[in-house]
Amino acid sequence: MDAMSARPPFVIARSHGADHLAPDGAGRNFYAIDHALRDLLPLYLAADDFRRLEPHFDRLGGLAGGRLDELARLADKHPPVLHPRDRFGRDEDWIDYHSAYREMETIAFGDFQFHAMSHRAGALGMERPLPAVAKYALQYLFVQAEFGLMCPISVTDTSIHLIRKFASKELQDYLLPKMLSGDVATMWKGTQFMTERAGGSDVGAIETVARFEDGEWRLYGDKWFCSHADAEVALMLARPERAAEGTKGLALFALPRWLKDGRRNAYRIVRVKDKLGTKSMASGEILLDGAVAYLVGDINAGLKQMMEQVNLSRLSHGVRAAAMMRRCLNEAMACARGRKAFGHTIIDYPLLRRQLLKIALPVEQSLSMFLFAAHAMDRANAGEADAAGILRILTPLLKFRACRDNIPVATGAMEVRGGNGYIEEWVNARLVRDAHIGVLWEGTSNINALDIITRAVGKSGAHRALGAALVKLLDEAEAIPAAFRDRLHDTLARTLDFAERIAAAPALEANARRAASALYHVASAVLMTWEASCPNVDARRALLARLILEYRLSAQDPLEVAAVDWEGETVELIFTERRIAIADVARLLGA
Ligand SMILES: Cc1cc2nc3c(=O)[nH]c(=O)nc-3n(C[C@H](O)[C@H](O)[C@H](O)COP(=O)(O)OP(=O)(O)OC[C@H]3O[C@@H](n4cnc5c(N)ncnc54)[C@H](O)[C@@H]3O)c2cc1C
Repeated sequence: MDAMSARPPFVIARSHGADHLAPDGAGRNFYAIDHALRDLLPLYLAADDFRRLEPHFDRLGGLAGGRLDELARLADKHPPVLHPRDRFGRDEDWIDYHSAYREMETIAFGDFQFHAMSHRAGALGMERPLPAVAKYALQYLFVQAEFGLMCPISVTDTSIHLIRKFASKELQDYLLPKMLSGDVATMWKGTQFMTERAGGSDVGAIETVARFEDGEWRLYGDKWFCSHADAEVALMLARPERAAEGTKGLALFALPRWLKDGRRNAYRIVRVKDKLGTKSMASGEILLDGAVAYLVGDINAGLKQMMEQVNLSRLSHGVRAAAMMRRCLNEAMACARGRKAFGHTIIDYPLLRRQLLKIALPVEQSLSMFLFAAHAMDRANAGEADAAGILRILTPLLKFRACRDNIPVATGAMEVRGGNGYIEEWVNARLVRDAHIGVLWEGTSNINALDIITRAVGKSGAHRALGAALVKLLDEAEAIPAAFRDRLHDTLARTLDFAERIAAAPALEANARRAASALYHVASAVLMTWEASCPNVDARRALLARLILEYRLSAQDPLEVAAVDWEGETVELIFTERRIAIADVARLLGA
């Protein structure tokens, strides 16, 4: 019997109709299809770095749409399992991961060496550390497939930063060779434990105590949220005995999982949390029972030092939100162009296009914002005076707004796919679940908004450095009609003034989120305008800037019929599949 005649006829009947469903993003190269990223990277990366790194962006884009995507789907469905004891009843707890997660670790830590690429030469064949722009662009591509593992990757990277910057030479010599290794089987990965039941936002309330016993520090306490729970090195805050109350009395410690003699350190992973999202990665609860730890840096500056790690994580969270939103947009576009209803492809319907616009706008804003922030980090590392201030305010701005936007974007993309978007075998359901953690870890929206307004604006005056940089970019964007740039100049000045007024009056604290959102929107509108004015960049970014100006920074009358003329044409241009030149958009920028 040949293969064809062996196949039962009902198989053909069952597959009938599959082509009614729109395709998804699987199988595509997420770098090749990301025209915006490809346009913008040359603006923010040195030409030589771009030329040398582009093959790696392309390779990771292919992996993200292919093998990584498949592994991420499997790892999400087979979350890690905690084994609290070994078979002899010894408290040798360990966490079991699915082989798909292990393979993703090999790609991340072994092949791309994300954790080490900012700290040493050798990653991706470079003879120097990679610029921040390249690192975050790579994170952005990776996370379009896998979000959960980016936590261990990023927190290893940021732990290395803290140890390099603050630890004694002896501690560096002990930890860094293992943490910077690219050998996945033997390397030591990092993590960060702060939150306790007594305090997450209110970190000064934590109760873990550090006692100096027999010449070494030992920690006693209970850490309530510990992502990457089985990392080999955890950075954590604890209060040395008799130290001051509140944040002042906190010191920073490095806690190794294994002691120098090979024994397990005296702490236990008590539980692994059953989470809404980030299921591939283990978040646990940790009981510290006299665990040996090494003091890092100044005993009186624990929180100040730890905030460096928090800020690096916040930037990465913004990038991760940008990445997940890009995946949502790609999925929504694939569906909108591939699904028919009432005799038409659904992208032809005005209401659906508006829905797509609401997805596309925050996606593009977050891309511009994270590239600009990463570029500021590179400039700050090179000692440029204004860049540190710009980075200071952009970091919480990006974390606050991009992570919030991720939630409606994920829900919107799910809705574009209709009922299938709710079904776990399509990526949308995971994107919806994963989107929510961004408003929690490394500070909730309120905590980030307060950091922006009270500290970055009120105490540091960092908004002035940002404002000056944005004014300069607007002045450079000569190809954009002057009337539009004038409008942006004016809105920028008003936004900076608004933020200052909120920062100056504690009674107005309830406006902090509004002021932070306005700063984000105006900054992204200016960036997109400048980008659109640069050679080889699709000028549609300027149209998106106008939409931000109209819908995020201007008063709307909900009972007024929308000015459909410019908006209709704008939307038309935004969803055409050809590149757009400035001449095509100039008229639509209005005044
Ligand atoms: C899956 C997961 C993994 C995590 N991993 C880690 C980890 O690895 N390491 C770690 O240290 N932590 C981790 N966390 C903890 C996380 O950072 C905290 O949950 C978060 O910072 C909020 O703290 P909390 O849960 O104590 O909430 P609370 O601080 O109790 O906040 C409750 C609410 O009060 C609001 N609030 C608090 N203070 C103010 C204020 N002054 N003004 C206005 N509103 C305020 C908050 O915005 C929030 O809405 C993780 C959390 C989750 C869910």
